[in-house]
Amino acid sequence: MAGDTLLATLPMRLQRAFGSPSSGGATSGSLPPEVLQQLEVLATVWDITHDAVVLTDSANHILTVNPAFEQITGYSEAEVMGKTPSILASGRHSPAFYAGMWESLLSTGEWEGEVLNRKRNGSVYPEQLRIKVLRDPQTGVVTHHLAVFADLSKQKAAQSKAVRLASFDQLTGLPNQLLLRDRAGQAIAVARSEQHQMALLVLDLDHFKAVNDSLGHVGGDVLLQQISRSLSAVVGSTETLSRRGGDEFVFLLPHVEPAQLRLVAQRVLAAMAEPFSVADREIVVSASIGVAAFPADGEDFDTLLNHAEAAMYKAKEAGRRCVRFFTEEMNQGARDRMALISDLARATQRGELRLHYQPLVNLMTSEIIGAEALVRWERPGVGLVPPGVFIPAAEHTGLISEIGGWVLNEACRQIRQWQRVGQVPIKVAVNVSALQFREGRLEQQVRDALAASGCDPQLLELELTESTLMVQPEEVTAVVRRLKQLGVQLAIDDFGTGYSSLSYLRKLAVDKIKIDQSFVRDLTTDPDCAAIVRAIIQMARSLGLRTLGEGVENQVSRRALQVLGCDFAQGYFFGKPVPPEVFAESFRREMKADER
Ligand code: C2E
Ligand code: MG
Ligand code: MG
Repeated sequence: MAGDTLLATLPMRLQRAFGSPSSGGATSGSLPPEVLQQLEVLATVWDITHDAVVLTDSANHILTVNPAFEQITGYSEAEVMGKTPSILASGRHSPAFYAGMWESLLSTGEWEGEVLNRKRNGSVYPEQLRIKVLRDPQTGVVTHHLAVFADLSKQKAAQSKAVRLASFDQLTGLPNQLLLRDRAGQAIAVARSEQHQMALLVLDLDHFKAVNDSLGHVGGDVLLQQISRSLSAVVGSTETLSRRGGDEFVFLLPHVEPAQLRLVAQRVLAAMAEPFSVADREIVVSASIGVAAFPADGEDFDTLLNHAEAAMYKAKEAGRRCVRFFTEEMNQGARDRMALISDLARATQRGELRLHYQPLVNLMTSEIIGAEALVRWERPGVGLVPPGVFIPAAEHTGLISEIGGWVLNEACRQIRQWQRVGQVPIKVAVNVSALQFREGRLEQQVRDALAASGCDPQLLELELTESTLMVQPEEVTAVVRRLKQLGVQLAIDDFGTGYSSLSYLRKLAVDKIKIDQSFVRDLTTDPDCAAIVRAIIQMARSLGLRTLGEGVENQVSRRALQVLGCDFAQGYFFGKPVPPEVFAESFRREMKADER
């Protein structure tokens, strides 16, 4: 009969649990086919579900378990048959816990909760367990207990990983800003109620960008990990060291006397003084530290952090590798900086940037050979702001690329305009920030500016600094070569302040070396300066590079440069940076004078 075949395919264990045809229970013949089919479905569920299922008798002896049970616990059905589920007990729960479970089972007929059980191999795992008491519908007598549980190990691992990800820095494993905020909040609450001081120390590595560039990102990461280990060694068990991202770390000192603060900061600086070793290279780093303490410098986390950061910037300004404590004046400085940055972010779109032009002069003939474009910001309510004030902020915030792009476009437009009004073509030099160069958009920006203006590439000169070219020389060479292919000229700005070699610059096909003003200024009074300038000019000449002396303020310097064989000069002696109309006017006058 069809019913018999169906029943025969039912798993043996279900038959055993509920009574098989031969043991005097229901016979297949007495069951209608649709019931048999439903049983077949249930048996399949039993077999394929990922949840463990255990069926026990009224005395809680195991009658049968499903394959998922065997898989999760590691026990085979044969091993557990006739035993009670207590063989899984981990010993992690108190007798009271099990008493509560049974009380609920007796009164409500079910129980659900999280249990720690032990596998056959001894390992303890969390499970979500649900137990139901089955009774005879007629008599109400307990016949079976059915327990279903899922292994929560994976879920718990994923949860704790998520918590870790949300609270800890991936690279160093240190608490991140989120966790720091949480702990600082608690520390502030305790300090307030117990009336003691707590403090935040913000530590920022000095010149990390350059180190990172020279090591490559993998090397930079290794260095950060080593640094974080050294810093961790300084913190006490109740203190927190966290990484804010980049090269900035924050120490939370939940209970500290003001007198101790300087000592702690010195200890931190000392921990950084030892050289680190990355890829067989010895790396020496230093850091600047800013300190703000509760309650004197702020009463909440954000204020304290801002103030510690403002103090850290002061430490940078003071020459780095030192500690500064927050003062109210710094607060004003920090507010000013915030305002400057938010105004600067809109300056390009609002058309507040200007280019002024300073003549570049041939020392032999005194002819103007071109101009350097120098950016200024006409800040509403403030007036004309020099680049030294806002270019560093633009670099820090990434605005430099946008500003640099504007400068290139404007300079090219101006070159074309001067050409159109019938003047002799004027070559214009444009300053390129190291960050703008590194960001990788410079080449496209130059192409765009040339294309938009239709300006002759020969009339555009890019001024790069030595430090721009010293990092990652291979990549730099490629970019510089492509720029040269566009036809633009290349000058090295502020030469002598970095560590580049002239032969390297020659390899890059640089056209001109601009000797830094600091050497020119003392040229006639300091024999060392004179020796340096002489050497630069001679070496540059022998390599076929042209030289320009910057910052010529008087006739004496001008003569000295000329005698030393310098080709060009720039400085207040020849003309200050002026708006384009003024520059064009003086240029025209000079041309006229020449014609006479
Ligand atoms: P720099 O490229 O070395 O420009 C020369 C600076 O020296 C200019 O200062 C100029 O006004 C000043 N100077 C020229 N002749 C003399 C002199 O005889 N005596 C003295 N004491 N100073 C003289 P400025 O315009 O304040 O620019 C400062 C720096 O800002 C520039 O140095 C350059 O590095 C940067 N900068 C200017 N414009 C831009 C720009 O468009 N983009 C970028 N990234 N940086 C710029
Ligand atoms: Mg320059
Ligand atoms: Mg310069």
